[in-house]
Amino acid sequence: MSTPDLAHYMRPGTLSLPALPPLSLYVHLPWCLKKCPYCDFNSHEFRGEGGEPAPAPEARYIAALMADLEASLPLVWGRSVHSIFIGGGTPSLFSPESIDQLISGLRARLRLEAECEITLEANPGTFEKDRFRAFRQAGVTRLSVGVQSFNDQHLKALGRVHDRAQALAAVEEARSAFDTFNLDLMYALPGQSLDDFSQDLDTALALAPPHLSVYHLTIEPNTYFAKYPPVVPEDDTAYAMLDLITERTASRGMQRYEVSAYAQPGHGCFHNTNYWQFGDYLGIGAGAHGKLSFAHRVVRQVRVREPRLYMDKALAGEAIAQETEVKRSELPFEYMLNALRLREGFALQDFCDRTGLPLSAIAAGLDEAERKGLIERDFARVKPTERGFDFLSDLQALFLA
Ligand code: SF4
Repeated sequence: MSTPDLAHYMRPGTLSLPALPPLSLYVHLPWCLKKCPYCDFNSHEFRGEGGEPAPAPEARYIAALMADLEASLPLVWGRSVHSIFIGGGTPSLFSPESIDQLISGLRARLRLEAECEITLEANPGTFEKDRFRAFRQAGVTRLSVGVQSFNDQHLKALGRVHDRAQALAAVEEARSAFDTFNLDLMYALPGQSLDDFSQDLDTALALAPPHLSVYHLTIEPNTYFAKYPPVVPEDDTAYAMLDLITERTASRGMQRYEVSAYAQPGHGCFHNTNYWQFGDYLGIGAGAHGKLSFAHRVVRQVRVREPRLYMDKALAGEAIAQETEVKRSELPFEYMLNALRLREGFALQDFCDRTGLPLSAIAAGLDEAERKGLIERDFARVKPTERGFDFLSDLQALFLA
């Protein structure tokens, strides 16, 4: 579908948002060298006409992104962009020249805040590592390195194309090329013992990443692992792994500022924090999701998912596959799904500002959560307790419509 005109978004509605939240931009680059067996992201191995592996059509894809952005500009008119996240897929497969062209194109069309954080997701392959400095020169301010593990056996089980030596070299290079970077690590991997994970975590922390994201391996529907499930550690072992993460990151001075995110002071990720604070984000690129607020509504958009079709559609001004207005009854849960992931929780005023709803919409849920010891609150803020963090989905479910 093509983007409706602005009047459509500005028409009267039942919500009343006094001001718009910060705006971020997500850019999806959908290709990977090889599809990992656990991955349910919109990522594809690029194949040429004859089905052979081939270089991705970077120039055409960037042209499609620019057309997509231009069609969306009226929806964010006058707003400045606080952060950009170039995710995927494997964005580091794009050449530094293409990333430079992409960022220049974004700058030419959007007003970026002076301190705009620009993150690029990178895999630790050797040829990608050698591009890190050039990505920095292209305007990337923060790299997110998808290490996942430093153990060759587990990397193989995850279907990753890099090995331990490449992971170590990539993190070293990220540190020397960037002022700040993130290291992604996974736990509860096939065949992983508590001791194996302990070593992985120590290796990661010894590299002193300013930011660490640690994810439990989950078996997602429609993945190779869902069809052929691997043997993964028992829940008790996985909990013990999480305890190790909490202890050892804290002893290094890292703060668990979100359920899965740990950072040295001043190194939190603005972009993801904006998601968790129910900020706005325009999402461009194949399958990208976006959330935009207007005076009387909150709208979610999804772009056409299949990359070739996305390029055709975006270039024809029809990048949007689906657009829905978040129902008034669903806003409390949507807000809580995000805000309760944060250690510092949220300000009550922000709930009203970002959903356009009165506090009475969450009063019963908050009372119940407090009774169960899942939140603590004062007149201005609500934050999850330790117990609330441990039982986060139970806590969030209290706000279901
Ligand atoms: S590299 Fe990342 S995005 Fe690509 S297939 Fe693997 S997990 Fe998915």
